[in-house]
Amino acid sequence: MKIMVAIKRVVDYAVKIRIKSDKSGVETKNVKMSMNPFCEIALEEALRIKESGFASEVVAVSMGPTQCVDTLRTSLAMGADRAIHVDAPSGSVLPLSVAKILKALVEVEKPGLLFLGKQAIDDDCNQTGQMVAGLLNWPQGTFASKVVLDKEKKVATVDREVDGGLETLCLDLPAVLTADLRLNQPRYATLPNIMKAKSKPIKKMTPEELKVEMRSDIEVIQVTEPPKREAGVIVSSVDELVDKLKNEARVI
Ligand code: AMP
Repeated sequence: MKIMVAIKRVVDYAVKIRIKSDKSGVETKNVKMSMNPFCEIALEEALRIKESGFASEVVAVSMGPTQCVDTLRTSLAMGADRAIHVDAPSGSVLPLSVAKILKALVEVEKPGLLFLGKQAIDDDCNQTGQMVAGLLNWPQGTFASKVVLDKEKKVATVDREVDGGLETLCLDLPAVLTADLRLNQPRYATLPNIMKAKSKPIKKMTPEELKVEMRSDIEVIQVTEPPKREAGVIVSSVDELVDKLKNEARVI
């Protein structure tokens, strides 16, 4: 079985986000970019499944500008066998277009599992996994915090983190899974593996080759920073607190 993992290149989680002066989006020039943390977790799980003997190959795929190749190299250094970069302008890689590209790649590669992050930390959409499962008509296990595969029955048992606790699903393969935070602790790429990754193949494709039209139904009107948090006030009594809540904050 082959596992395909969708890897998104995003602004590094530790970077303090700045808005472009024309308010058209987030500034990405001279900003550190990294693999989306939930994609790292998805990749780690795919690698562990391969190491346990259930899968024979892990293919990392990414859609976006040329620099996505750097992120794909990181996935090869972590242990993916090969990668596919679908070259597209960064503004065009919205969840529905990405889901259509993933569907087209699945039809070519025929993986038994498609792994994604539960969400990308730049747009926080949490839509791509669900959309591609719908387009493929495959079962989906989203927000996975535990995945157990049964070789004989060709099923995946998935624990999902839901509001009320854990939900356990049994899915027939092939299936779409999206990784939640507690699924695993991703490995670091070692220096020898970083060197080895340089000779692993990265295939370049275009949306046209996959017959996908990168169309956006979303228009961004304006991107602004959240209002600055004002300093707190220490009150001397409960009466003063109630008075402030009633007359200043007007919340009671
Ligand atoms: P989102 O629906 O945008 O929150 O993204 C959820 C997941 O979809 C990510 O964690 C990735 O696994 C995948 N994904 C989204 N955009 C891309 C992209 N441009 N390239 C590869 N994978 C992507």
